[in-house]
Amino acid sequence: MEDDNNPKTGKTEPPSHPKFVLPGDNLGAEEEFEPGLGSANLDGKIVASVVGEAFPNMTSRVMLVKPAKQDIAKLPEVNDVIIGTVQSAASSIAQVRINAINDIQSTKDLSGMLSMRDDRHRRNSSPIRAGDVVRARVSSTVNSIYHLSLDCEGCGVIFTVCSFCGGRVVALGRGAVKCTECGSTDDRLLSDDFVTYSRTLH
Ligand SMILES: [Zn+2]
Repeated sequence: MEDDNNPKTGKTEPPSHPKFVLPGDNLGAEEEFEPGLGSANLDGKIVASVVGEAFPNMTSRVMLVKPAKQDIAKLPEVNDVIIGTVQSAASSIAQVRINAINDIQSTKDLSGMLSMRDDRHRRNSSPIRAGDVVRARVSSTVNSIYHLSLDCEGCGVIFTVCSFCGGRVVALGRGAVKCTECGSTDDRLLSDDFVTYSRTLH
């Protein structure tokens, strides 16, 4: 981590795990923050406008997103941590589009196969859904197939919406979400960040 002090906004208070964000990620409500560099106000929600790390300044109430460095040449290696968008999901496996590798944006348009068979619980329905954004570890790259796993710190779903109405959801523990709009609950293998972030919304 470099200098966290921004001369324009004063000292920031980076969270213990800086929150990695993608454009469009919801970072809070306009009542909570003003949009700063790297963020924007979209219909009353403060969202990221770049790939990077979110730094909410709790003093000035300004949301900053520090852009991630670009490295289009990097290929995933074992134990790299990726951020990806779920393309399709079944009960124990999902196809994930790799958006970033070790918090650096990837423009190589790679996909990985996320295996959930060893994670936490066995379920009948998928604990992640198409459109969810996940953090996962590269467990194997044999034959240039990127096998992904959720067995790492901070891994799991980092962004999701209600499967029924598309509304905003909050964590109900680490394995389920509840919609703030229609009240539905659904299984999700949530990252610790998501659980922590949900608590800040109450
Ligand atoms: Zn809903």
